[in-house]
Amino acid sequence: MTEIERECPTCHSRQKFRPLNPAEKTAVREKRGARFYVGNLWRCTAGQCLWYQPYLNRGKGGLLPESFRKEAAPK
Ligand SMILES: [Zn+2]
Repeated sequence: MTEIERECPTCHSRQKFRPLNPAEKTAVREKRGARFYVGNLWRCTAGQCLWYQPYLNRGKGGLLPESFRKEAAPK
């Protein structure tokens, strides 16, 4: 699986990131506009984190909608 490590501004620490899945890309487009380039977005995989960003550009990152705050295994 593809993974990178980046400093996450929400977690305030270094975290593993993975590429956005199609549902997440759709959500980002809905929020940022259809022209926002989502082909190179990565998401922080830490616990309940919603942070995403372009590969090298943290300044263009943002937070996914709350509905994507799942990942944490259901109990
Ligand atoms: Zn994070």
